[in-house]
Amino acid sequence: MAQKILVTGGTGYIGSHTVVELQQAGYETVIIDNLSNSNVGVLDGIEKITGKRPVFVEGDCTDIDILRRLFSEYPGIDGIINFAASKAVGESVKEPLLYYRNNLCTLLNLLELMPEFGVRGIVFSSSCTVYGEPDRNPIDESAPIKNATSPYGNTKQISEEIITDFINSGAPVKSVILRYFNPIGAHPSALIGELPNGIPNNLVPYLTQTAAGIRKELTVFGDDYDTPDGSCIRDYIDVVDLAKAHVMAMRRMLSSSEDTDRIEIFNLGTGHGLSVLELISAFESATGVRVPYRIGARREGDIEKIWADPAKANNILGWTASVPVTETMRNAWAWQLRTDSKSNS
Ligand code: NAD
Ligand code: UDP
Repeated sequence: MAQKILVTGGTGYIGSHTVVELQQAGYETVIIDNLSNSNVGVLDGIEKITGKRPVFVEGDCTDIDILRRLFSEYPGIDGIINFAASKAVGESVKEPLLYYRNNLCTLLNLLELMPEFGVRGIVFSSSCTVYGEPDRNPIDESAPIKNATSPYGNTKQISEEIITDFINSGAPVKSVILRYFNPIGAHPSALIGELPNGIPNNLVPYLTQTAAGIRKELTVFGDDYDTPDGSCIRDYIDVVDLAKAHVMAMRRMLSSSEDTDRIEIFNLGTGHGLSVLELISAFESATGVRVPYRIGARREGDIEKIWADPAKANNILGWTASVPVTETMRNAWAWQLRTDSKSNS
């Protein structure tokens, strides 16, 4: 019988791509999402790609009664992937309690209900933000955790600690914590992708909207960093590659043949850093479309350079990022063009 996975935040950006990969790998999926940062139309995209509409519950994970009802209504859930969270760094500085409440209550509720409903494992979306500005690159999982620079980042650190304490207390659950580097791109079908709310904060949606003429120009935040071309360096990871890593993590966590640690942490990145200017030029050469940009001031709080050492995920999960950045850029562009045509129609 197919294993059943609860995907919280499953209509969101990374969640929707992961539901596609889970379904294609033969898992049954149940999504819960409160649609605070996504829309229900995403289910159509998932259905078109996989031929199967996932079960969808509209609800808020901070409400434990809603979750308890879900677990009763859909019995036999084997594992959870917890994407549901608020994720805008700047907003978290202005509305810290909203972030602590949403991100931490969601996790506490899920953990509390897991033993009650016999759910064996939880995959948690963490972030390379827990490393702060690294002392050296590439960075592996043993690198020190630095003080968080925003309430959002702090929710990720606290969440990792909550999961660790819970499992160390002897709770009958396992967990895989995935520290994402910079997820970008869209599904190659252009049927699902990232749906930024308002003016995007992140580089790639801003870049594709600029290329599409929605924004006048992209501002490169600083060209005086200690990097070869002066702009910041990140490890940009294709969202489909990232989604596939969740399937592998789930398989390993739930496998009875694998005697795995009760809690495991993996970096998910390509292992290669790209500067902002290099990414712009990758987009231009992949699509043939020019991106008007100017060099602006540094953005407060930005990390200068960070990229992953993904060896642990490569060797233990058997996962490697494989989509070349030019293809990721073409997919991001195809998705941008599709969202434009939808919003104009
Ligand atoms: P997203 O906003 O697209 O998806 C999150 C989804 O969760 C949204 O659909 C939203 O409506 C839903 N949601 C939020 N709070 C909820 C609640 N209380 N109950 C039910 N649903 C709720 O974000 P994403 O980019 O797909 O990120 C997924 C996860 O990965 C988040 O935990 C995020 O912090 C983490 N992450 C993202 C990135 C990134 O760059 N995108 C990087 C590192 C970590
Ligand atoms: N960036 C930029 N212009 C923008 C948005 C982002 O130059 O309009 C840079 C930013 O300074 C960082 C990189 O792009 O170096 C990635 O930023 P993003 O916000 O996408 O992710 P972060 O790594 O900050 O979470």
